[in-house]
Amino acid sequence: MAEPSPAGHFHPEDAPGYESILQCMRCGFCLAVCPTYALTNRERSSPRGRAALARAVAEGKLEFTPAVRDESFLCLDCKACSTACPSGVRVGTIMEFCRSQAQVFHPPSLPAGMLRDFILKRMLPSPALMENSMLPARLYQRLGIQWAVRSLGINRFLPGALAKMEGILPKLATPLRLEIPELIPALGKKRGRVGFFLGCAMSLVFPEVSRQTARILSQQGFDVVTPKEVKCCGAPHLAEGDRETARRLARINIDLFLALEVDFIVTDCAGCGCALKEYEELLEETADHERIGRFKAKVRDISEFLAETGIRTEDLRPVPLSVTYHEPCHLVHGQGLSVPPRQVIRAIPGVELREMKESNWCCGMAGSFALKELETSRRILERKLGHVRATGADALVTANPGCHLQLAWGVRELGMKQPVLHIVELLGKALPQ
Ligand code: SF4
Ligand code: SF4
Repeated sequence: MAEPSPAGHFHPEDAPGYESILQCMRCGFCLAVCPTYALTNRERSSPRGRAALARAVAEGKLEFTPAVRDESFLCLDCKACSTACPSGVRVGTIMEFCRSQAQVFHPPSLPAGMLRDFILKRMLPSPALMENSMLPARLYQRLGIQWAVRSLGINRFLPGALAKMEGILPKLATPLRLEIPELIPALGKKRGRVGFFLGCAMSLVFPEVSRQTARILSQQGFDVVTPKEVKCCGAPHLAEGDRETARRLARINIDLFLALEVDFIVTDCAGCGCALKEYEELLEETADHERIGRFKAKVRDISEFLAETGIRTEDLRPVPLSVTYHEPCHLVHGQGLSVPPRQVIRAIPGVELREMKESNWCCGMAGSFALKELETSRRILERKLGHVRATGADALVTANPGCHLQLAWGVRELGMKQPVLHIVELLGKALPQ
């Protein structure tokens, strides 16, 4: 993305590549798939409009105004426009660069900036700090305060973002990073050795899901190596415009996983997988392309991995369930993986897959978007859950922790009955005990 080109009114460091902006030919094919355009019907909130704004700044015709900043943050970075675009324009990525620019031209207030720096530069890069930061939330649940808050309806009086955070919080357990063995041996005939990239959100919020992933990989005949020194993939940093820390984390993770000498690097978090596959682009100005390329060639989402290596189905038990599948943006648009998750679902005996309308539309979570743009996020979610309801499926399946949180919250809010499951939880139901 960072071609040497005129930066115009962009700061030259981490400016969006001019050539990539220029590829937009204003055809409008992207308009029909953009959730923010669908809601606002406003050109500047469409992919084409955002590309035009970035072009005007790059050509020095427009300052990096608050309106440009706001559009960059209103973009969900769902990447749906990239899939639709015949010219390969990646407006979501251009907006990620614009968020970096926003830190230069419209820096946050001192306290907000200090908090942002602490979270992005100190807390997220440290698994131990992140685990400690969850202690108050775990106590809140274990001491029964959450039960009291919810049963007495106190949560209805919390300010918007806090109420959403409270509502979205699932039952927390011990982070998986602290419990998972560094090596889980393959069961049956050994087929290889994989490095398991245990994402922060999966370890902290969905430890049982990632436990299933490791169990499935072992049951499928792979040694599973899970390095405890793993760092955040950098996805939150890219989303918040801190590319410098994202680069630092990328270098650490590349060194860590290449040293393991594994055949594949597998993740069950669509957001992590997308970020890991983008390390090459993130670090394009470094000299070590051979190592970065070798790392990238090994990275697989869990469903991509299972579909590619062939699922051993001989021991699977029937799971009599109808399900519908919500495609995480970072899987379908970020990694181009639409077929493999369905192959995994269909490989499970007894499962009936009922397709929903707009399965590849964003659920409205989009990182911190769901907390910052509460009303827009809710409207996007309600559109999604309307399609879920129309399928009449018993369960809703997805493959990303952010989507999982948002969908489970929406299902509860709307009084729907479907449990939300990660694909590996569904597959785990079919595994022998
Ligand atoms: S972003 Fe792509 S699809 Fe959208 S107007 Fe530009 S060229 Fe067309
Ligand atoms: S990334 Fe998503 S929200 Fe952003 S412009 Fe593209 S389609 Fe719209």
